[in-house]
Amino acid sequence: MRDPLDLLDVAGLLTDEERQIQSTVARFLTDRVRPHLAEWFEAGTFPRELAPELGRLGLLGMHLDGYGCAGTTATAYGLACLELEAADSGLRSFVSVQGSLAMYSIHRYGSEEQKQRWLPRMAAGEAIGCFGLTEPDFGSDPANMRTRAVRDGDDWILDGAKMWITNGSIADVATVWAATEDGIRGFLVEAGTPGFTARTIKKKLSLRASITAELSFEGVRLPGSARLPEARGLRAPLSCLNEARFGICFGAVGAARDCLTVALDYARERVQFGKPIAAFQLTQQKFADMGVALGTAALLAIHLGRLKDGGRLQPHQVSAGKLNNVREALAIARECRTILGGSGITLEYSPLRHANNLESVLTYEGTSEIHTLVVGEALTGHAAYR
Ligand code: FAD
Repeated sequence: MRDPLDLLDVAGLLTDEERQIQSTVARFLTDRVRPHLAEWFEAGTFPRELAPELGRLGLLGMHLDGYGCAGTTATAYGLACLELEAADSGLRSFVSVQGSLAMYSIHRYGSEEQKQRWLPRMAAGEAIGCFGLTEPDFGSDPANMRTRAVRDGDDWILDGAKMWITNGSIADVATVWAATEDGIRGFLVEAGTPGFTARTIKKKLSLRASITAELSFEGVRLPGSARLPEARGLRAPLSCLNEARFGICFGAVGAARDCLTVALDYARERVQFGKPIAAFQLTQQKFADMGVALGTAALLAIHLGRLKDGGRLQPHQVSAGKLNNVREALAIARECRTILGGSGITLEYSPLRHANNLESVLTYEGTSEIHTLVVGEALTGHAAYR
């Protein structure tokens, strides 16, 4: 059946298998997650027990091959992100960080022993991972990071701090990026290693159904085998971020779709001046603009998915996708909130929760300003970061 919100028939571009994966994820979220979202958001928690359920659905490390991962296409993974974020950006963030950052860093840069040890358990949701690149003093500019790893015989000694780390205080293993005398390198640091602590960041107004933490490393001794042997230089963490950003291009579409669904339902029911507010031209202008923006964002996401599956996706194209789709989703979430009037300010309706979440999505995995500069560089040939 045609979805009335799918103005441009984007679903017609999907294969039967992709549509089936998308509806399986959507069904799980409707039954198991949606009834609890407002409660988790208000309490500022992410239920860890959800991880094995996400694992059983094949959503963790979904587009990676082997080691218990589902090995789907990138487009199918994107569609799963779309559905997850239609529920809540915090949930999609959990899946992105687990699969595209923590697992991907091990899958692409780890030793066979590291892969065997971590990936099957992470794919099953039995072990949780996080990814520490950002520091208190270096976010957009990670090349200047202060976290240091120094050799001591066969071991490494790690000192420093990481900030805003998703899953940080519930993770069993952290991929931590540190400066060494040979440049930036990645290390796997297990929870409980002496000198390693994680503190949950409280009082967040955004992404509340997600755990965010500050990590601290004081003289943490790591065996040589903790280093990701294939990761050399800043390119390694940046390649992982590119994976997660790809999922965001789709996820933002999901958040926007959910807002539009809620606002349309409300506008059809809510009567003022003797008729449904959906029948006023000003309201229809809002819906028409949002419908077109949602459709174009969805087309862009699918296009990026096809490019990625064809092995042709370039980082600046992912930047363009994140820049456009998160910006549009945030504008849609805010506009939908206006349609809900006063009712729109509570957790009973999702648009303001999505809008607040999307403030984080706009900032993490490269801020909108940094992605603007990436696109600017692709167009002009001039790098304007510094
Ligand atoms: P800054 O880099 O200090 O930027 C502040 C402002 O200055 C921004 O508007 C930025 O665009 C602008 N700016 C900076 N440089 C320039 C420039 N050259 N030109 C123009 N404007 C510029 N990090 C991780 O490593 N792992 C995680 O799991 C993770 N999860 C996160 C979860 C949440 C909820 C949040 C909020 C953040 C998370 N981050 C994570 C960190 C995130 O990636 C950083 O917040 C982001 O990269 C921006 O860094 P910053 O906060 O230090 O801001």
